[in-house]
Amino acid sequence: MKQQAAVIYGKKDVRFEKIPITEPAETEVQIKVAYNGICGSDIHEYLDGMDLAINSHPLTGKKVPLVPGHEFAGTVVNIGKKITKLQIGDRVAVEPMIACGKCAACLAGNYNLCSRAIGKDNSAGFLGFCANGGLEEYCNVAEIFAHKLPTDFPLDLGALVEPTSVAVQAVLRAGLKAGDNILIQGAGPIGLFTLLVAQAAGAHNIIINDLSDQRLALAKSLGANAVLQENNPIDLQQKVNQLTGNQGVNLAFECAGVQATLAGALNTLGQNGTLMVVALFGTEPQIDVRGLLKKGGRLLTSYGYANVFERSIGIIDNNREAFKKIITKKIKLPQLIDEGILALAHDKQQAKILVKLTN
Ligand SMILES: [Zn+2]
Ligand SMILES: [Zn+2]
Repeated sequence: MKQQAAVIYGKKDVRFEKIPITEPAETEVQIKVAYNGICGSDIHEYLDGMDLAINSHPLTGKKVPLVPGHEFAGTVVNIGKKITKLQIGDRVAVEPMIACGKCAACLAGNYNLCSRAIGKDNSAGFLGFCANGGLEEYCNVAEIFAHKLPTDFPLDLGALVEPTSVAVQAVLRAGLKAGDNILIQGAGPIGLFTLLVAQAAGAHNIIINDLSDQRLALAKSLGANAVLQENNPIDLQQKVNQLTGNQGVNLAFECAGVQATLAGALNTLGQNGTLMVVALFGTEPQIDVRGLLKKGGRLLTSYGYANVFERSIGIIDNNREAFKKIITKKIKLPQLIDEGILALAHDKQQAKILVKLTN
C-alpha cells in the first residue's frame, strides 16, 4: 500500500512522492492525517534546511529524506500490539516531540528540554525534522503523544493544538493572573495564540503590537483591547503608558524575535513586571539588564511545551469560533510550497495555513 506524501531531501528540495504506508510499532498508533498546519519553522526548514536531520538523529536514527510537518490531527486507523488507551476511530491531536524519557530533563517532566533530542547537526527533536511528520496521509506516532480530542471537535482545530501549546506553556510559565494587563510583541500566529490563551486565562487589557495592518486587524477581531503599530521602543513605551495610566504592563510576551521588539517589551513593563521571551531570535539580541533590574523585573523564557496538550485542547474547545479565525487558508498537498510555505513567508494576510491530507 502506498500513500501520497511531501518528502524533504534538503534545502529547497521538497518532492511529492508515493511512499509506502508502514505498520505502526507496538507502542504506536497509525493516524489518518486530516490537517497539517504550516509554521515558521517549516519555512526555515524548507528555505535553509534549518533543524533538519542531515545525519542520523541520536534518538530516531533517521535522516533525510523525511516527511515534514509537525502540527497535525487526524483519526486513529490502526494500532500497535501494546496499545492500551486509544482505539480505532479516536480523533487525536499529535504532540510531535521526540524525547529519550531517561535524561534529567525528561525525568523532571521537562521533556521539551531533553538533552539527547538535538542532533550534532542541530536537528530538532520533532516529528517532521528527525522522523516522518504529518505531511503524509498515514503517520505512525507514539501513543503517549497522541492526545484524544472531544468527539465533535473539528479536526482543523485539532491541527492548532500544537502551536496553541507553545502559547499555553508561555502563559503558564509567565504566571499570568486574572486581571493582568499584558503586551504582546508580534501578531504572527504565536502572538495571536498567546492573545487567545491570555484571554482564556483572564487577562484584563491585552495590547498587541505589530507592523502589519492585516495582522493587527485579525488581532482586533480576536478581541485585542488595543492594537499598536510601533517599531521604536521609546514611542511604544509612551503609548503603552497612555493605555495603562502610566502603570506599564504586568507581563510582556516577546513573540517577534528582533532587537527592537525585545527592547520595546522591556520598556513597557511596570514595576515587578515579567518579560517572557517566546520567539527564537535569528541574531543574538542585547538586553538592558539595568533597566529590568530597576523595575524589579523578571526575565523568563519558554521553549516548546511539556504536559500542556490537554489544557490546549480544552481552551480551543471553549473558544472554537475565535481559534477558527486564525486559520486563513486551507490548501492541498501539491500546493504546499507556493500556496503554503512561500505564501506564509511573504503574505502578512496569512496566519495559519492548513494542508488538507485526507477526507
Ligand atoms: Zn510549529
Ligand atoms: Zn531526555
